[in-house]
Amino acid sequence: MQKVWNGRPWLFDNQLFVLKEFEGYTPLHRVNFDYECLWVWMHNLPLSCMTKERGVQIGGTMRRVEEVDVHEDGSGWGSFFRVQIYMDLTQPLARGRTINVKVESIWILFSYEKMPRICFSCGCAVHGVKGCSGILGESDGKEDQYGIWMRAT
Ligand SMILES: [Zn+2]
Repeated sequence: MQKVWNGRPWLFDNQLFVLKEFEGYTPLHRVNFDYECLWVWMHNLPLSCMTKERGVQIGGTMRRVEEVDVHEDGSGWGSFFRVQIYMDLTQPLARGRTINVKVESIWILFSYEKMPRICFSCGCAVHGVKGCSGILGESDGKEDQYGIWMRAT
């Protein structure tokens, strides 16, 4: 069980397979499957910002940070920085965040490990384009703001 739990998120046919810890006291109709942990890759992050603190700070703007992928000394290293976030799936996946480093503003681009199928109109994982009721989902000829490029590879 622990191996499956630690391997989240899981996909089935590219759809997110949301897992919940069994507790047995909530009526089934009230069990909420709108949240799941996703690994976010943060790109363009300066090396000095690849720290547990910064990971929690940036990731915390999306929701609850579960884990920051750092070495034992709390620092990271590489072309991207991994942060696991407990996400609200009814909200659009964030495409990135602007952070301030010294006097400069830097756009930090996000991609998602094992990104599930999402609606490319509104960025949510809970429906496909056909089920989209958001204002952004109305076809107005604009290019989608979300796409397959958000999948970390
Ligand atoms: Zn939508």
